[in-house]
Amino acid sequence: MSIESLTTVQTDRDRALLAETAGRASRYLAGLDDRSVAASPEAITGLAAFDEALPDGPSDPADVLAMLDRVGSPATMASAGGRFFGFVIGGSLPVALAANWLATAWDQNAALSATSPAAARLEAVALGWLIDLFGLPEGTGASFVTGATVASFSALGAARHRVLADAGWDVEADGLFGAPPVRVVVGDEVHVSVVKALTLLGFGRDRLVRVPVDAQGRLRAELLPDVDGPTIVCAQAGNVNTGASDPIGAICDWAAPRGAWVHVDGAFGLWAAVVPARAGLVAGLERADSWAVDAHKWLNVPYDNGIALVRDAGALRAAMGINAAYLPTGETREPSHFTPELSRRARGVDVWAAIRTLGRDGIADLVERCCRHAERFAGGLTEAGYEVLNEVVLNQVLVRFGDDATTRRVIAGIQADGTCWCGGTVWRGQAAMRISVSSWATTDDDVERSLAAMVRVARSVG
Ligand SMILES: *Cc1c(COP(=O)(O)O)cnc(C)c1O
Repeated sequence: MSIESLTTVQTDRDRALLAETAGRASRYLAGLDDRSVAASPEAITGLAAFDEALPDGPSDPADVLAMLDRVGSPATMASAGGRFFGFVIGGSLPVALAANWLATAWDQNAALSATSPAAARLEAVALGWLIDLFGLPEGTGASFVTGATVASFSALGAARHRVLADAGWDVEADGLFGAPPVRVVVGDEVHVSVVKALTLLGFGRDRLVRVPVDAQGRLRAELLPDVDGPTIVCAQAGNVNTGASDPIGAICDWAAPRGAWVHVDGAFGLWAAVVPARAGLVAGLERADSWAVDAHKWLNVPYDNGIALVRDAGALRAAMGINAAYLPTGETREPSHFTPELSRRARGVDVWAAIRTLGRDGIADLVERCCRHAERFAGGLTEAGYEVLNEVVLNQVLVRFGDDATTRRVIAGIQADGTCWCGGTVWRGQAAMRISVSSWATTDDDVERSLAAMVRVARSVG
């Protein structure tokens, strides 16, 4: 057999594999409506089939994919469907998933414009659209990263650069050894990922100044401390439990005369800015210095996808830029000058496809629909006699089914019932169930079916 015909044989087989896999993926998605949202105990037990010894030789790729689908697919969480309300996890818009497939076939390294002109341009376009959507200042620097955790890490790296440079210290050159102390102020409800980002940057978890919050988890701006010297304050748009946002405008009022850097963790809450009727929740947003937001949550693109945005693009570049003789140094925007990673997948493609398809109005509609569904959950559960603990201002609902033990039993019962899936939390010392509506796929019917299941389980358990 000649090399050429061998190549042809492989190409045909590879093409068949890809087509077959697209079929498997479509069937998986189509089947989500009829299965338990959580993986069944049998499906989880079935994962033992993966625990094989390292194979010595090759296998038929089609067999490998068949096994992946047969054993893996049933043991997934049906978070791509319309009745998953755990954590804050969005579904994937079909167009974003499809764009992701094509971009994966491209297999581009999005580090450099030289390694992928298409990825670099699509990233730049998508980032420009995001800056426009959120109403952020023109010239804002930005980059695609894995999620809000790394977005906060990147943005706070820029903050660290700027506040220390203003104090005459080059942190990239000299590190934090002997540096002027930086005061980092957070609300008491700061997301753990921001604390992790600050820890990675060398600020120290126990050195954070924590400001008390109100009943919805919002930082109480009147309790912000008097500070001088290099200061960073972290605000939150969208509390994972209540959906409430810190008073960003008031925090900026406090920061301005002190020269403090304001970072906003808006993993999902930043999207409120896109809906005119809800934009008041994050008023003053555009006055901050940096923002972290997820695309894999409320923009409903596949995992993983988040964005770091920094008003002072030079600070982001100073914190993240690298130089080497073999890397380009021209005027072109090089994505890797603004990210912790060098080699990276082309996340901008999925975001470009989502925004290009939905437009500003479609995104506002997606966000607003989720908020309306959350209101319906809160109304339905209140009507059924259960206590909603938060003001439902966005897409999060906290509900209690009696005392802590009963509430926990009801949550376990709802998860096992399989109609929908919600997680638990502790809010101000009380056990509660969290309902987070974050997917385009959730319909009115999904909400009614889920509500009925919640009430049925709560009555039988409680
Ligand atoms: C989800 C979330 C994060 C972390 O985002 P990842 O995408 O998981 O890294 C940070 N802050 C808030 C408020 C979140 O909801």
